[in-house]
Amino acid sequence: MAILMDGKALAKEIREDIKVEVEELKKNGIYPRLAVIMVGEDPASAVYVRNKSKACNEAGIEFEEFLLPEETTMEELLNLINELNGRKDIHGILLQSPIPKHLDIEKAFETIDYRKDVDGFTAVNVGNLTLNKPTFISCTPHGVIKILEKYNINMEGANAVILGRSNIVGKPLIQCLLNKNATVTVCHSRTKNIEEITKNADILISAIGKPKFVTENMVKDGAVVIDVGINRTENGIVGDVDFENVKDKASYITPVPGGVGPMTIAMLLHNVVKAAKKLK
Ligand code: NAP
Repeated sequence: MAILMDGKALAKEIREDIKVEVEELKKNGIYPRLAVIMVGEDPASAVYVRNKSKACNEAGIEFEEFLLPEETTMEELLNLINELNGRKDIHGILLQSPIPKHLDIEKAFETIDYRKDVDGFTAVNVGNLTLNKPTFISCTPHGVIKILEKYNINMEGANAVILGRSNIVGKPLIQCLLNKNATVTVCHSRTKNIEEITKNADILISAIGKPKFVTENMVKDGAVVIDVGINRTENGIVGDVDFENVKDKASYITPVPGGVGPMTIAMLLHNVVKAAKKLK
């Protein structure tokens, strides 16, 4: 049985450290504050925002929520983002996706001042990650790297295979792993013979969004398996990995829930504090 990588415990440790850091900042007159914009009513987003609010609260980070109605226009949304860009007391701005289809989410993300882009989605921050320069790293990929580091997984020279190439997970992960000197392969819906590729992975990371996609025949003996997937099924929340079967083949594995998920919020708090430190 593989060693379980406990993202929940690591996230707790990180959040406790952040709390101490926030106390220090406050002594110096800096009150880290995150603004979250939500447009329309999406039940899953409401849960995510509530969790972020709770986590900020526990860490002593101030949280301001902007709930805009479904019929909000692009101009209204951009006006709000620009207003928040200009506010000195706000260090981080997060636009919760999805937003209604009549709005251009790419344009909205790009309008966020990159110094307040705690999600790491703007072209400037993505570009800086590519150049291995200081930046805000997208929270989920950053959380994955922190888990690998915590368990002393050797990334240098390792064959890392990523399943999924989304802008928020797969693509930034490519860069994060390259920056750690891994040899990175990325697979997506048009990749042929995925199994042949994954079987060579020392580190296999799945961010696809399909339950039980990663089966034991796809995994090399002793591989490290990181499951980013969050899939709601009638049996509750499951990842992309067929955990019960893969766990006996892998050397390390993340559970779902309790693996990558909790790390995402911890890294968001980390980015807010980082933003606050720059904007004294
Ligand atoms: P996404 O935008 O839907 O991207 C899914 C990716 O998987 C795409 O690149 C797609 O390829 C690829 N894919 C889909 N079916 C495939 C197949 N049969 N074979 C190979 N590749 C396939 O999803 P996402 O936002 O990256 O999220 C992925 C999963 O991670 C979801 O379950 C999501 O809920 C979860 N997630 C978890 C966290 C967390 O905090 N743990 C954070 C974010 C997301 P194409 O590009 O070719 O379409």
